[in-house]
Amino acid sequence: MAFEGLTERLQNAMTKMRRKGKVSEADVKEMMREVRLALLEADVNFKVVKDFVKTVSARAVGSEVLESLSPGQQIIKIVSEELTDLMGGEQETIQTAAKAPTVVMMVGLQGAGKTTTAGKLASYLRKNQNKRPLLIAADIYRPAAIQQLETIGKQLDVPVFSMGDQVSPVEIARQGIEKAKAEHLDFVLIDTAGRLQIDETLMQELSDIKEITQPTEIFLVVDAMTGQEAANVASSFNEQLDISGVILTKLDGDTRGGAALSIRAVTGKPIKFTGSGEKLDALEPFYPDRMANRILG
Ligand code: GDP
Repeated sequence: MAFEGLTERLQNAMTKMRRKGKVSEADVKEMMREVRLALLEADVNFKVVKDFVKTVSARAVGSEVLESLSPGQQIIKIVSEELTDLMGGEQETIQTAAKAPTVVMMVGLQGAGKTTTAGKLASYLRKNQNKRPLLIAADIYRPAAIQQLETIGKQLDVPVFSMGDQVSPVEIARQGIEKAKAEHLDFVLIDTAGRLQIDETLMQELSDIKEITQPTEIFLVVDAMTGQEAANVASSFNEQLDISGVILTKLDGDTRGGAALSIRAVTGKPIKFTGSGEKLDALEPFYPDRMANRILG
């Protein structure tokens, strides 16, 4: 189960607090030592942990907390608020262009779940926002990626634009958008190529697609199971492409929490959706407060 270890350790640290009628600075220090270890063990970025502990500690030893009637409860509330803040505070939704179609680029490393998530997002937009999306198959390098997207399109009854693997991704994206305009569709979701690791050729190609298609959203799809490495990947993509948001996949697995808690602080970019299963309806908007509650258990 996701966050299992983290939740258990945080709860242990907090339970001691909850019982206390009076809390001293030493108590706070002791609790924060446990919180710090819990976060590090969950693979949260070191600097993120350091800043988090500093912020919570500063708030927790304030006079209005220590002298209040239920200091333990207050401190738990502070931890919850700061966890929420760490993940961006407010929920951030998908942006639309002033003039249809809104162009969304899906980028990410191979295996992160990009193609599946493109399908999930198409389904989400149609079901929840009554939009008409077009999926564009611009990953011409991974064998079977085009076919995978076509299969997903069939399952969802969402149109897929493809031109095989002999035309450049930039040209495929351009023509796909033309088609969407001609058919008065609302969204195009461009499934771009991933690589096993970040390389210059990949980034150049993505930059080219970005320049030609002028996307409203560039979503980086990352695998939550990769922990804080997901935040490093997000940083690299962000430097090159100025991404607009992150979609965190595989939250149905036993991820420890490092990705969810590091990405926003490390990159400054919000997590906008999460994926929690292989099925095409397993996509939800990301709510930082709900995630904080889930982590705290
Ligand atoms: P891509 O290479 O980034 O396009 O990745 P794919 O979309 O092909 O996904 C790689 C694998 O991850 C596939 O087996 C997907 O079914 C699976 N996958 C994608 N998202 C999720 C998710 O949220 N949860 C789980 N359990 N599996 C996922």
